[in-house]
Amino acid sequence: MEFRDAPEEAAFRAEVRSFIEQEVDDTVRRRPGIWGSFDTSRDAGRSTKGWRKKLADRAWIAPAWPKEYGGAGMTIMQQFIFNEEMSLCRAPRTGGGIALGMAGPTIMLYGTDEQKQRLLPPILSGDQVWCQGFSEPESGSDLASLQTRAVRDGDDYVLNGQKIWTSVAQHAQWMVLMARTDPDAPKHKGISYFILDMKTPGITIRPLINLLGSAGFNEVFFEDVRVPKENLLGEENRGWYIGTTTLDFERSNIASTTQLVLTVGDLVEWAREHIDSPECTLARNPGLRYELADRAVEAEVARLMSYRVISMQNNGLIPNHEASVAKLYSSELEQRIAVTAMKTVGLYGQLIGDEATLSNSMARMYLYAVAVTIGGGTSEIQRNIIAMRGLGMPRE
Ligand SMILES: Cc1cc2nc3c(=O)[nH]c(=O)nc-3n(C[C@H](O)[C@H](O)[C@H](O)COP(=O)(O)OP(=O)(O)OC[C@H]3O[C@@H](n4cnc5c(N)ncnc54)[C@H](O)[C@@H]3O)c2cc1C
Repeated sequence: MEFRDAPEEAAFRAEVRSFIEQEVDDTVRRRPGIWGSFDTSRDAGRSTKGWRKKLADRAWIAPAWPKEYGGAGMTIMQQFIFNEEMSLCRAPRTGGGIALGMAGPTIMLYGTDEQKQRLLPPILSGDQVWCQGFSEPESGSDLASLQTRAVRDGDDYVLNGQKIWTSVAQHAQWMVLMARTDPDAPKHKGISYFILDMKTPGITIRPLINLLGSAGFNEVFFEDVRVPKENLLGEENRGWYIGTTTLDFERSNIASTTQLVLTVGDLVEWAREHIDSPECTLARNPGLRYELADRAVEAEVARLMSYRVISMQNNGLIPNHEASVAKLYSSELEQRIAVTAMKTVGLYGQLIGDEATLSNSMARMYLYAVAVTIGGGTSEIQRNIIAMRGLGMPRE
């Protein structure tokens, strides 16, 4: 593993950084660390539209997509550098995460020419919202047990069933969805993968309110929803294998470890500046210094773990338990950072309101962090993968 940029990587990093410095002003730049993570006001709407256009002009809306599909055709290492610089320079998020990072790349691999031409170009605007309809009330970790049915009827498939925890479904134009097409086949072999137009009659979306009090995800019900056969992706009953590709794309997201390093740095800086303020407990609790130091070390460790994953990908290897190690460590670290942040602001950490104040951000981070060891595969599942595939231990 090489930690330093090669000369051409360093030149690319400088190009990205100078573009961001030139094009991102303080009205759209995300606020520091903890504040920035929950500063959704600046990511939405008009303020980032101009930014998206500037990225689109360089094909940087979809840096990872091949040029033939309108992307920038960046190598794995260039994508990593691009994401790292965007995060380090606090550039606004562009949205379109599921569409650009998961659905689009899956369609490129498994879609017909007609599907690619129809579905990929609109994603490149960066405005389109897609959601992921995989989890069901009884099927999360054991996703292959999913029960939503799709029955062929003429030129359509008819969907009945329910999805749950579907992030952004209430805003989405499209869903990537797995449904059971052969209930008699072994569970992994009777699933198909569909692209669903969210305006189709028979879909009911019920938002679920999370700990932060916002509707981050939803229940989605299907009652005789007709999906044209043109929206089956890949072969019937081969959808499980396509779905795992989508999940691989989901798990290869590496921007978040840079965010952890930034967050700890900003917390330390804030504590230093506010050491005499009643809002900061550092002077009254000297042990907190050690805790902050531990978080700083751990955030660097998390970053090195994502370097390892990226180096493997860059050398043509497919990270497996290595990606689980990185996901497990960084998500549990995010929770530890949230606890340390709450201790740093003491009783003020109980205040939560609409204002983008420090205590509000701490409380929001603390509540949000509960979800990060569940979404994208729970910590227990990551530990199972590490034990079996990494350490060679037998299945229990
Ligand atoms: C913020 C957030 C956003 C999400 N967004 C989406 C989305 O957009 N689309 C989507 O499809 N899903 C989404 N999910 C759902 C997510 O994928 C599931 O919550 C996750 O896979 C876990 O499934 P489950 O909730 O059914 O828990 P379960 O699988 O029922 O697990 C319950 C508990 O049992 C443990 N457990 C389960 N199996 C094992 C095992 N074999 N060994 C040891 N322990 C085990 C788990 O670790 C967990 O502690 C989201 C979840 C969150 C938190």
